[in-house]
Amino acid sequence: EPTLSGDFSTLMGWADNVRRMKIRANAETPDDAQTARHFGAEGIGLCRTEHMFFAPDRIGFVRQMIMAGDAATRVRAIDALLPFQRQDFQDLFRIMAGLPVTIRLLDPPLHEFLPHGEAELADVAAAMGESLEAVAARKAALSESNPMLGHRGCRLGLTYPELYAMQTRAIIEAAIAVSAETGHAVVPEIMIPLVGMESELRRTRTIVEQAATEALAASGATLEYSIGTMIELPRAALTADRIAQQADFFSFGTNDLTQTTFGFSRDDVGTFLPFYLEHDLIPRDPFISIDQEGVGQLVSMGAEKGRSVKPGLKLGVCGEHGGDPASIGFFESVGLDYVSCSPFRVPIARLAAAQAALAARDALAPAAKVR
Ligand code: PEP
Ligand code: MG
Repeated sequence: EPTLSGDFSTLMGWADNVRRMKIRANAETPDDAQTARHFGAEGIGLCRTEHMFFAPDRIGFVRQMIMAGDAATRVRAIDALLPFQRQDFQDLFRIMAGLPVTIRLLDPPLHEFLPHGEAELADVAAAMGESLEAVAARKAALSESNPMLGHRGCRLGLTYPELYAMQTRAIIEAAIAVSAETGHAVVPEIMIPLVGMESELRRTRTIVEQAATEALAASGATLEYSIGTMIELPRAALTADRIAQQADFFSFGTNDLTQTTFGFSRDDVGTFLPFYLEHDLIPRDPFISIDQEGVGQLVSMGAEKGRSVKPGLKLGVCGEHGGDPASIGFFESVGLDYVSCSPFRVPIARLAAAQAALAARDALAPAAKVR
């Protein structure tokens, strides 16, 4: 574990005294969460739950969930995942000791979970008591040519509602258990990915609220929780006033927002982006530093429209840009409440947020700047 020197802590202390924005980390494992706290993160801004499902003892159930031919098989597979998820969230809540934790419900490109090769397909077929042919046909029906624009995010939660209900139940039960055990009130923030329409969020919210209500009733405990959304599609930013009616908070997903605004694939820009950069067709890599002219406009519009409906709406960013100093300056100017970045970038983000706050102060007091 890296140690922080006294000078480093002093410098960070100065930064913390002047910055306005909070700094959170993107973390989904206990190790990440520990590192995040060590570097001074004030919460988790993005826990990506899809990575939790690849462990060898879980992936089989995930495959059965998406490949099931009937509802009973699907529900059985999802139920089998509940204890794993509850444990995952308990571990994170314990480490974060009452700091805010935003858990994003499942958002994989579906193809990552599909069985690859004959052996995996045979395993799934055997587990479900079905023929190899039947399962292979279902896999073919689920395959997509553009998975990043396909059956992912809330689309998955809407088509498999038991999945988001299970994750919600795991979050609520874990929060109740850790609150009782540690005395820190855990206030989970449940986040819905890839929303483009108010209707999607409204319906997903109903699924989440119902599962949370059931879990709370079964335990007899009380717990505060909130339900928010990622703003990561241009349509979400354009209609953020409508979406805000269904959201307790927004988190800008600038990775997907960059992909969908430019129409540049996140996964394969290597074919032409180096040429674009070399020939000044674009000033910098927009997946690293926010494109203020285009993508930034959507962030700014989303923030404004969201707050026009709910003045105090909590706003954050959790794309890669949340750890980029130039982008952090931009997020300060938009008025976001926090940035969330990889744990190792938390110190840089603390400094950049302080610099951004000082710059904003200077801009408000030009006379002081001249002196
Ligand atoms: C994003 O799209 O910016 C984001 C944070 O989500 P992910 O990178 O997991 O798609
Ligand atoms: Mg995303």
